[in-house]
Amino acid sequence: MKKLTYLLFFVLVVLASNSYAQELSPCGTQLGISSWLRDFQARPSGSPRNDETLYVPLQIHVVGNDDGVGYMSKLTVMRSFCTLNNDFADANIQFFLANPIHYIDNSTYYEHDFDGGYDMMTEHNFPNAINCYIVQDPAGNCGYFFPGVDGIALSKSCTQPNDHTWAHEVGHFLSLPHPFYGWEDENITPDQPAPDFVNGWQVEKLDGSNCNNAGDGFCDTPPDYLSYRWSCNVTGTSNVVQQDPNGEDFVSDGTLFMSYSNSGCKNRFSLDQIAAMQANILEERPNLLTVAPAAGSLVIPETENITVLSPAPAALIEGSSVRLAWQPVPNATHYLVQVNPFSIFSIVFNEFIVDEPALTFTNLLSAETFFWRIFPFNAYNTCGSFTRPANFDTGNVTASQDLLAGEQLRVTPNPSGSGQVFLELESRSSGPAVWQVLNLQGQVLQTQSFQAITGSQRIPISTLQLPTGLYLLRLQLHDRMAVEKFLLN
Ligand SMILES: [Zn+2]
Repeated sequence: MKKLTYLLFFVLVVLASNSYAQELSPCGTQLGISSWLRDFQARPSGSPRNDETLYVPLQIHVVGNDDGVGYMSKLTVMRSFCTLNNDFADANIQFFLANPIHYIDNSTYYEHDFDGGYDMMTEHNFPNAINCYIVQDPAGNCGYFFPGVDGIALSKSCTQPNDHTWAHEVGHFLSLPHPFYGWEDENITPDQPAPDFVNGWQVEKLDGSNCNNAGDGFCDTPPDYLSYRWSCNVTGTSNVVQQDPNGEDFVSDGTLFMSYSNSGCKNRFSLDQIAAMQANILEERPNLLTVAPAAGSLVIPETENITVLSPAPAALIEGSSVRLAWQPVPNATHYLVQVNPFSIFSIVFNEFIVDEPALTFTNLLSAETFFWRIFPFNAYNTCGSFTRPANFDTGNVTASQDLLAGEQLRVTPNPSGSGQVFLELESRSSGPAVWQVLNLQGQVLQTQSFQAITGSQRIPISTLQLPTGLYLLRLQLHDRMAVEKFLLN
């Protein structure tokens, strides 16, 4: 029944997320070519590419509605942040999580217009970091960079691990225009040479003669006039043929993150774009410069299995909470922990981020097997993977010992796979007694009376007829009762 409830929940979640599906514009950034960028592009050979990695703090804000519903999942945040860092690896720019994820519950920000975005960033921006807000609907766009208030808004649906919207918007943050700069909200006229100017800006020619003063001003990004979302062919270029002002035919390069091609086409910044972004950090945003982390401190070794410290193997969890603890993974400062009442994790019911190798999980159900796995990471490296799941069991009857001080009931060995367990009793009085074996539904499977003696005694109980699983041993001794759980494996 419980599993059915989970399934129903899953169906509802899928329906709810589909009902939100909508067409978002690729990018809402309104960004001119800054005077700094004009100056940079006018330098004799730009700036040489910096081989030293720049470490840049980035603050992630995950926004939900007023009820705290609709957050992007922690795992998706981690995986998408990994994609962002991979996209900037060739640029030698490495972002790191300035602080833990900052959660905001505000329906006005969750689905906002530009005014709402301005308010959100004004209210919540952290100093000395690139502030990125992951919301449901950022003013009808996949994302945008808001220069005035200096923040980035991203839609959940365009910021999945295979998307490159995040890289595109951080490119804007670091001064990059679209390669089709000037053509925003303009359409090309098919089969006709483009005009010399569009929106007062020079139209870039195929021969490179005006590349420094047209389009995005970078000479290693070829002409591109496509200011709508487009699909590329296998060579990563557009199927749409455009004509430059000289009447020369060309197609757009969809491999550039700053273009409007589909995410699947994109895989690079150009060398001039990289040089500009590095120089922009060094010259315009020195507050984002940080000391490089210690060499070798970022690599997280592949960890296949959790080395569980708690709960003990085959321990039977009592009460409503359990302490999960594990051997630390080298270089991991944080762990994403998932706990599920089944062994698959395609849908996750309990997800946590902890900054120590331990977690107290309080959402236990009775008579379930819980599975849990960990994803080790640090602020720089969220590209790791999950361990295999470990598991523990809970019962629906609480074990109890209503015995006198100095008396004790034990079941040994526990767990047992030998077809036999022993009832071990420490008693302070002698007399008639009864033991029973019950399943977790409370059904009595075996009953036997015996004579208890003062002191220690050990009674064999055959379990050959019992399938593997959890059982209860109940002892009645005069007016006293004790219940112990045991596992047959
Ligand atoms: Zn853009």
